[in-house]
Amino acid sequence: MDCIFCKIIAGEIPTEILYQDKEIIAFRDIKPLAPVHLLIVPRKHIPSLDQMEESDAALVGRMVVIANKLAKDEGVDQKGYRLAINCGAEGGQLVPHLHMHLLGGRKLSDRLS
Ligand code: 5GP
Ligand code: ZN
Repeated sequence: MDCIFCKIIAGEIPTEILYQDKEIIAFRDIKPLAPVHLLIVPRKHIPSLDQMEESDAALVGRMVVIANKLAKDEGVDQKGYRLAINCGAEGGQLVPHLHMHLLGGRKLSDRLS
């Protein structure tokens, strides 16, 4: 599988894992855009948000629950943070494996650009 996140999940690319369970893992973005920039990633290779199925709804919901827990662990829950899923070329998606960004630790732009 030529997918960078599948390789991280398989342990082929050494990466500090901040959270993992049977469905989801989380690690720091390699090029952080904020003091806290984590990626919450399902182990299942879903290429993008538009290819999730209705049966993945609980999985995507758990990604949010875990992101909220990580925001607490990282100490950004009180001041605030942002969760983002980029989808497709115009949505800014570079890695074709569904993932959610958790950004925090600084004042983020008021606008999503
Ligand atoms: P996207 O633009 O697809 O929503 O976000 C992909 C993110 O994955 C980017 O922010 C990028 O910096 C991050 N990324 C790409 N390759 C790696 C990697 O090998 N390790 C880690 N930790 N992050 C990566
Ligand atoms: Zn993958």
